[in-house]
Amino acid sequence: MLSAPLETRRNLLLIGGGHAHVAVVKAFADHPLPQVCLTLLSQHRMAPYSGMVPGLIAGHYQVEESHIDLPRLCERADASFEQTRVTGLDLANKEARVSGGHAPIRFDLVSVNTGSTPGDGGLAGVSEHGIPVKPISQFLKGWERLMDRVTRDPAAPMRVVVVGGGAGGVELALAVQHRLVSLVSERDVRADVIQVTLVSASEVLVPMHNRWVQAKLNRILRERRIRSLLSQRVVEVTSRSVRCDSGVEVPFDALFWATTASAPGWIQESGLRADAQGFLGVNECYQSLSHAFVFAAGDVASAIHNPRPKSGVFAVRQGPLLALNLRRALQGEALVPLKLQMRFLSLIGTGDRHAVGSRGKLAFEGRWVWWLKDWIDRRWIKQYA
Ligand SMILES: Cc1cc2nc3c(=O)[nH]c(=O)nc-3n(C[C@H](O)[C@H](O)[C@H](O)COP(=O)(O)OP(=O)(O)OC[C@H]3O[C@@H](n4cnc5c(N)ncnc54)[C@H](O)[C@@H]3O)c2cc1C
Repeated sequence: MLSAPLETRRNLLLIGGGHAHVAVVKAFADHPLPQVCLTLLSQHRMAPYSGMVPGLIAGHYQVEESHIDLPRLCERADASFEQTRVTGLDLANKEARVSGGHAPIRFDLVSVNTGSTPGDGGLAGVSEHGIPVKPISQFLKGWERLMDRVTRDPAAPMRVVVVGGGAGGVELALAVQHRLVSLVSERDVRADVIQVTLVSASEVLVPMHNRWVQAKLNRILRERRIRSLLSQRVVEVTSRSVRCDSGVEVPFDALFWATTASAPGWIQESGLRADAQGFLGVNECYQSLSHAFVFAAGDVASAIHNPRPKSGVFAVRQGPLLALNLRRALQGEALVPLKLQMRFLSLIGTGDRHAVGSRGKLAFEGRWVWWLKDWIDRRWIKQYA
C-alpha cells in the first residue's frame, strides 16, 4: 500500500476503548485510509463488553470470552495503542493531556468514547467501603475478592447490598446471587446464608422499561428471595451499612454501587459544550456542538436534541456511523446524521441462564431469551476477536 508523505498525514486520536471505538478501529482495519495515523488511548488493554459482564459474574463466561483485546485489534488496523488515562483536552493546541507526566498527544481529529461512572451522589464512603460497577476492571477485582471470601468461609452469613434499581443493578443483583448461592451449595452450605438486597431511589425497578418487564423482574426477585427497597435514597455509607433518607439502615458485608451514570469532570474543564449533567454535547452526526474536530459516542456523549438512554446497546449502534463520519470528516466530506430508534430489543439476564426481554410495549421471558441474548452477544464480540 502506498503511504502518504508525512506532512499530509492526519492524526485521528480515539480516546477510550468503548463499544463504539472498537467498531471504528475495525472499520479502519477493513478499509484503511492511507493518509491517516490512527491512535487509540485507553486506560485498560482489555475492554469488557458490558452485555456479557453479568454473565461473567454469574459464571457463564470466562474473562477472555467477554473482553476485547484492544492492542491486538489495533494491530489489525495498523493503529497505535497506548494504555493511558486522558485527563483533559487542550482544544486550542489540539492536544490530549494524559496521566503519569507523559507528553501530551497531538491530533487533527479526536473522538471520545470513555463511558461513564456510577454517580456516588457526593457520598464519601462509596469507593472506600463499596464496589462501584465502573470501571468494570476494578469492579471485577472487587468481585474476585468477594468470591474468595465466600469460598474460604462459605458458612458465614453474607449480606450483599446492591444500590441502583436500573437494568444494570437488577441484572447484577441476580447474577451475584446466582453465583454466590452456587458457590456455597457446592460446599453443602444452605443457600440462605446469601442474602441480597436491592436498594433504589426510584419508585419502581427498571423505570426505563415497560411495566410488563417491571412486573416480571419484580416476580423473579421475589421468587429468588432478593429483597427490594424502593423510594430509598442512600444518604450515608459506612463500613457496615447504608443509611437511607427515610431513616432505614441496611447492613451489609459487601456493597455494590450501580447507580445512574455520571460524566467525567474533564469534559467540561476542557471547555467542550456539555449537557446539564456534564456529558459531551453532540449533534446527530456525533460531532461536538462546540468544536467541529471533536466527536463522541457512547455513554460519555449526549445527543442533546435527540437524547438516548445510557446503555451499551446505543454505544454499539453508534459505532459504525461514528466510523463513517470520522472518515468523511477526514476527507472533507459532508457528515451523515443518524436517528437511533427509541424502540430497541432489550435483554436482561436473570443469572440462571434465563432472561427477560422487551421491545417497545412487548415483554417476554424464558430460557430461549437467554439463548438469544447469548447468541447476539457472542456474535458481536466475535467480530473483534
Ligand atoms: C453491571 C452492568 C451491566 C450492564 N449491562 C448492560 C447490558 O446488558 N446491556 C446494555 O446495553 N448496557 C449494559 N450496561 C451499561 C453499559 O455498561 C454502558 O452503557 C456501556 O458500557 C457504555 O459503553 P461505552 O462504549 O460508552 O463505554 P465503556 O464500555 O464504559 O468503555 C469506555 C472505555 O474507555 C476507557 N476509558 C475511560 N476513561 C478513560 C480515560 N480518561 N482515558 C482513556 N481511556 C478511558 C475505559 O477503560 C473503557 O475501555 C451495564 C452496566 C453495568 C455496570
